[in-house]
Amino acid sequence: MIPYARHHIEDDDIEAVIAALRSGWLTTGPMVEHFEQALCAYTGAQYGVAVSSGTAALHCAMFAIGLEPGDEVIVPSMTFAASANCVAYMGGIPVFAEIDPATLLIDPADVARRITKHTRAIIAVDYAGQPCMYSALRKLADTHGLILIADACHSLGGRADGQNVGMLADLTVFSFHPAKHVATGEGGMVVTNKASFAERARRFRNHGIDSDARERLQRGGWLYRMDDLGFNYRLTDIQCALGISQMHKLPLFLENREIAAAAYNSILSGFRYFTPLGLRDNIRHAYHLYVVKVDFQALGRSRDDVFKQLHKAGIGVNVHYIPVHLHPYYARTYGHRPGDLPITEECYEHILSLPMFGDITMEIVETVCTALRSIDED
Ligand SMILES: *Cc1c(COP(=O)(O)O)cnc(C)c1O
Repeated sequence: MIPYARHHIEDDDIEAVIAALRSGWLTTGPMVEHFEQALCAYTGAQYGVAVSSGTAALHCAMFAIGLEPGDEVIVPSMTFAASANCVAYMGGIPVFAEIDPATLLIDPADVARRITKHTRAIIAVDYAGQPCMYSALRKLADTHGLILIADACHSLGGRADGQNVGMLADLTVFSFHPAKHVATGEGGMVVTNKASFAERARRFRNHGIDSDARERLQRGGWLYRMDDLGFNYRLTDIQCALGISQMHKLPLFLENREIAAAAYNSILSGFRYFTPLGLRDNIRHAYHLYVVKVDFQALGRSRDDVFKQLHKAGIGVNVHYIPVHLHPYYARTYGHRPGDLPITEECYEHILSLPMFGDITMEIVETVCTALRSIDED
């Protein structure tokens, strides 16, 4: 089976993990800072806080901005549930915004319509790896005194308007889940240029305590102070060692993804029922996902049917995402129902994610497209 996503681990990654296991530090050791520095060097951001998952990183970001119960945060519904769950964790209210149907990126004009006196922040999701319209979002945030957060779990290595992802929002969140660009097993990071955000995120990942074990060891004291209710969201040195090793391969992974995407784009341009997503100008797309829109009606087949045929043929297509507002938890808790976000729901009916990963080859792209062609020409 060709999966929709997969990690790529080589001998030097394994050696890096073994070295960490022998180093004397399994957690809160020097590898954590090294990994944070690697992300800072790569993105240009000043501060990085490594945590146990992308979800934890989103939660840290919400704590860092001081989200209060009842505060509203505008977020797209065409995303993974975690993008909105972080708001709910804090007692905030996720307010779902529509997307541009061509790119599936949050629509700044719709964000503007949903700003109220309770709005505190916008979480933009770089869907599939394409950076959002940050200049428009920045303008809105500045006009209304909002904090702009990038859920960049798809877009490590992306660029927009001459700047790296990591520099385009007040806080940027990455995930190191094996499906993402860089794998640590589970893992995530918050990067920011604001010292106070970084300090709060750092405290939140360690129970809300002002220092960690290594800092106390170095300082030769035992006192610590818990200022806030935080969590244990620490990332281990074992995982950070793997992350550092994987960061060296990120340029190659991105290049492979770009080449595969260009091949998909060119092959699919001759298809009747399969259409690639729209691309913005002046961006570097990081291609976490390669998503096509399928006209199932014209094709005369259901998505379920096409999905099953492709899986039978060994092509692990997937669907990203079921709109968050349609999940029972969100419907029940915030009173959402089908029809609340018609553009998002319409887009959802037509999307399919094709295989895309760091070690994808032209041969894999051709195998996938051959299977799609047999459906398109049927
Ligand atoms: C993967 C992902 C997350 C969560 O990351 P985890 O590391 O799995 O917790 C959040 N948002 C988006 C858009 C993601 O794709």
